Amino acid sequence: MSTECIFCKIIAGSLTSNIVHEDNKILAFEDVNPQAPVHHLIVPKEHIPTINDLLTEHNELIGQLFQVAKTLAKKHHIAENGYRVVMNCNEKGGQAVYHIHLHLLGDRQMHWPPG
Ligand code: AMP
Repeated sequence: MSTECIFCKIIAGSLTSNIVHEDNKILAFEDVNPQAPVHHLIVPKEHIPTINDLLTEHNELIGQLFQVAKTLAKKHHIAENGYRVVMNCNEKGGQAVYHIHLHLLGDRQMHWPPG
């Protein structure tokens, strides 16, 4: 828990969000500035600032983030047509919130390369 971190505040319930999934290790909620008709953020409850801070002990947790992404994709009927999951790292990777999160984006055509 970081007192400065907006995602820690959402996890603690002191900042509101539209929650789409919660279990003992993970919270997922709608992105406040959606970039696709489906845009969810899948966030570990543990405060891990960036991918660079991952330890081998986080391997299972990272797998769980993808399991939640898969489940939410099925729930929103985008699994068959396709979707994108993204995790940005640091400034040039486009990271704005320093608490790791998977973006789940779907229900529109994605393009490559991403901007
Ligand atoms: P990133 O640039 O990968 O760090 O993504 C951060 C994401 O968090 C952006 O897509 C923001 O729109 C989103 N975001 C920031 N604040 C909030 C919030 N209070 N509730 C939901 N999403 C947020």
